[in-house]
Amino acid sequence: MTEQLEQLEEMPDDWQRALAVVAHPDDLEYGCAAAIAGWTDAGREVTYLLASRGEAGIDGIEPAKCGPLREQEQRASAAVVGVSAVEFLDHKDGVIEYGTDLRRDIAAAIRRHRPELVITLNHRDTWGGVIWNTPDHRAVGRATLDAAGDAGNRWIFPELIEQGLQPWNGVRWVAVAGSDSPTHAVDATAGLERSVDSLMEHRSYIEGLTDEEPETYCRTFLTANAERASARFGDRPAVAFEVFPR
Ligand SMILES: [Zn+2]
Repeated sequence: MTEQLEQLEEMPDDWQRALAVVAHPDDLEYGCAAAIAGWTDAGREVTYLLASRGEAGIDGIEPAKCGPLREQEQRASAAVVGVSAVEFLDHKDGVIEYGTDLRRDIAAAIRRHRPELVITLNHRDTWGGVIWNTPDHRAVGRATLDAAGDAGNRWIFPELIEQGLQPWNGVRWVAVAGSDSPTHAVDATAGLERSVDSLMEHRSYIEGLTDEEPETYCRTFLTANAERASARFGDRPAVAFEVFPR
């Protein structure tokens, strides 16, 4: 029981640039965006890097049409929380492979953007030991944790040096959202309403997913998510992260 009451620490805030790396459009909107809104309000720069365009994410829309639609929705969704830089790596949705290609692509982005904080999504097998996680989330989360180190070592991926991407060993933390074992949290009060608007921008995905009214669906999910962390964060609505310092 004592474990349940253990409080989460405040996320570090002595940083200026963050890079958020996830597999799909909408991965950051299911929880993280409230934290991101607060960070951009404070003048910090946040860049989104998506391994795929989520083209296999909607049963009723074929990938060739779905990819561009989801890219557009992701850009709109990012803009709501103050993020204008959104990049796509074009790995194939649903079959993203963990490996050196993915690590190299993420390391290249880390070298380009030089973040102090890297954000990613749950890289473990399950969500809370109950729901099996997707292969894309596992692959991208693990590759992101690894690429934070790769980015700083000039002898790993020397071809990046040839492209003018010098090592960046300045990543101080990798923060994993949606972890079963969070260590830190960010107050979500100021960003919560915008996180609802941000998730709602994924309209075609949400309409394909649920018959519920989109705003009700988004608000219910995100409020519950923020309240789940609050018991361990002084009763404040929060976004929780498992932070790996480097
Ligand atoms: Zn996803």
